[in-house]
Amino acid sequence: MCLFMALIIFVMHMAMNWSMFSEQAQELSDAAAGVAEAQTFYLQNPDDAVDENRYYRSVNDRLFFYIFTEDKRLVRFERASFRIEQFVMDVIETWNIPEGQVETFSHSNETGQLSTVMMTSKKILTADAVQTIYVGKDVTALYSGLQKATYAQIVLGFVALLIASAIGFFLAGKALLPLKDAYDKQKQFAADASHELRTPLAVVMASADLLLADPSIKEPFLRQVLEDLKSEVKKMTNLVSDLLMVARSDNNALKVKIVRLDLTEILKQVIRTMTPIAEKKNIHLSGENFRKAIINADEQRIKQLAIILVDNAIKYTPEGGAVVVRLESVDNTRAVFAVMDSGIGIAPEDLDKVFERFYRVDKARSREMGGNGLGLAIAAEIVKIHDGKISVASKLGEGTKFTVELKVTPKR
Ligand code: ADP
Repeated sequence: MCLFMALIIFVMHMAMNWSMFSEQAQELSDAAAGVAEAQTFYLQNPDDAVDENRYYRSVNDRLFFYIFTEDKRLVRFERASFRIEQFVMDVIETWNIPEGQVETFSHSNETGQLSTVMMTSKKILTADAVQTIYVGKDVTALYSGLQKATYAQIVLGFVALLIASAIGFFLAGKALLPLKDAYDKQKQFAADASHELRTPLAVVMASADLLLADPSIKEPFLRQVLEDLKSEVKKMTNLVSDLLMVARSDNNALKVKIVRLDLTEILKQVIRTMTPIAEKKNIHLSGENFRKAIINADEQRIKQLAIILVDNAIKYTPEGGAVVVRLESVDNTRAVFAVMDSGIGIAPEDLDKVFERFYRVDKARSREMGGNGLGLAIAAEIVKIHDGKISVASKLGEGTKFTVELKVTPKR
């Protein structure tokens, strides 16, 4: 809108300038022709008495003219006003504009007052004389009027822009209000629903445990049913707690408890926790380049982040592979760690999408592994609330590397 307004003001300024200039130019050309005609007449009839009106037909007292002979002698004139006469003489002195062409000249005096004149020239050729007429007009007032009009347009344009922006902002806000309302409600619903689901799920889980512990239930089929029930309830509990986490982060209701901690210690703990799971798949899980890395962060969340990455690395690496957790670098401002695997890898077109909620490259495989497509979305959220960065590099069939950069002192 600003650009559009500036364009309109510029075009209007140019249009006004052009119309004013062409009108004045026409007046000057007419005056030049009139003076030339009169001068020609008196050159051809030197005995006639000079009638000043023949020279100066215009009633406009801002017009002036000077007639010079070939040897620069002034033979006739209608003086420009005292304020601009010296300036006009200077212009004539250095005149090199083709005959008939109208030009504008500006000059500011010692006090900074600007004067503008428009001038043109015309040659008189009679049998025994060659003379040049310079006709001009003081257009200072016109030009300063134009300038003021342009300033007024700019100010008005700016005010109109402000009003239009305010109205636009107001109306757009009103239009978006129901949408924002619905979105807020939906976020609140997700948070409430996942929160409310936790208790019944915990009850079902405890009941299944109770039944399994009952020695009177001996039937293997019934025990299998109970085991299946427990495993499904466990998956659902995980999904619900993941949902709750993303819903809370959407509502900015995620509680974060920043403490001073050693990142390496957390990574070591995670390796210890995950080793039995890795061993089940005969995957070698190890730490590399470990040394002290003190940062300020939420201990539970950082642990959760590392678990998500290591868990994925194990999930998507075939039996007999390797997963390495490596402390890449530590300095006064940041600590960087990576989780690398020798697994199936991620295709380039999927790389950006893996951090999206519920995105799974291979849905069947993910479900089979107990995944719900929320892990990396949560990992990204945890990194975000720590003011850090997470990135992924991968090659299909060769492996994947997730890199996490955490600030020593996150801005929150
Ligand atoms: P999921 O619960 O399905 O693992 P995530 O959000 O953790 O969900 O991951 C999203 C998708 O990214 C996964 O379904 C998987 O296809 C892909 N992915 C994540 N980590 C890896 C990895 N280390 N190697 C290969 N693919 C991965």
